[in-house]
Amino acid sequence: MSRLLAACCALLLALPAHADGFISRLLDKPVPGGVAVIDLGDGPAAPRVRYQDKPVLTVREDGRRWIAIVGIPLSVKPGEQRIETDGRSLAFRVEPRHYREQRITLKNQRQVSPDPADLKRIERELAEQTDAYRRFDPRQPSNLLFDKPVAGPLSSPFGLRRFFNGEERNPHSGLDFAVPAGTPVKAPAAGRVTLVGDYFFNGRTVFVDHGQGLVSMFCHLSKVEVKVGDELPRGAVLGRVGATGRATGPHLHWNVSLNDARIDPTIFIGAFSK
Ligand SMILES: [Zn+2]
Repeated sequence: MSRLLAACCALLLALPAHADGFISRLLDKPVPGGVAVIDLGDGPAAPRVRYQDKPVLTVREDGRRWIAIVGIPLSVKPGEQRIETDGRSLAFRVEPRHYREQRITLKNQRQVSPDPADLKRIERELAEQTDAYRRFDPRQPSNLLFDKPVAGPLSSPFGLRRFFNGEERNPHSGLDFAVPAGTPVKAPAAGRVTLVGDYFFNGRTVFVDHGQGLVSMFCHLSKVEVKVGDELPRGAVLGRVGATGRATGPHLHWNVSLNDARIDPTIFIGAFSK
């Protein structure tokens, strides 16, 4: 009996306290494609945290407790997940979230079923972009509550299951804004430009590294106005909205990635609804 009690106590101690500050309340959306905020307790130095063997963003909340802000990939099933920190393993729960389906017709069949030469190009481009997502710059993000990169209505939501000409493809990894071509796109937080490309699917694209694995990608731009290595202050114009790559018309597609997990950008602009 006492052994059982001891085991229960150990289990309770292993469960992290629920973080309850402003950032936690805003960002804690533990669903596939969402964010889990986990209280790490006090301490002079930032704890080192890993999730799925990738480094995790940690910040000090309200000037006191450390919290881990963990991106949850869309492919994660609801249930228990764990982070590792300084020899401890902390559990958190992922809740279910329903994502809608969308059927899109593209006139250019090559953008639905790319030919072998295109596939080679796509593979190369994917590797380049994956590298940009996996960087871990130790700098703290300038702000965790992001500004919207363009002023305009949201169109296609994150996580939509998409069927192009009847064939299921990857779910929507970002958030679309319906805005006219030429609209300036602004950095939602300060950051360094780590990649600029002109890609098969994403068209003219800019990656901005906000620090500690928090990365933005802006796609389908008509014009890019920055170069790799530029340090952008919050609100800097990085390019113009367009329809380059696989796009049915001018719009901004914005990805937000955290510990190499593409997550719902509405969480960071305070517009999340389940
Ligand atoms: Zn999109």
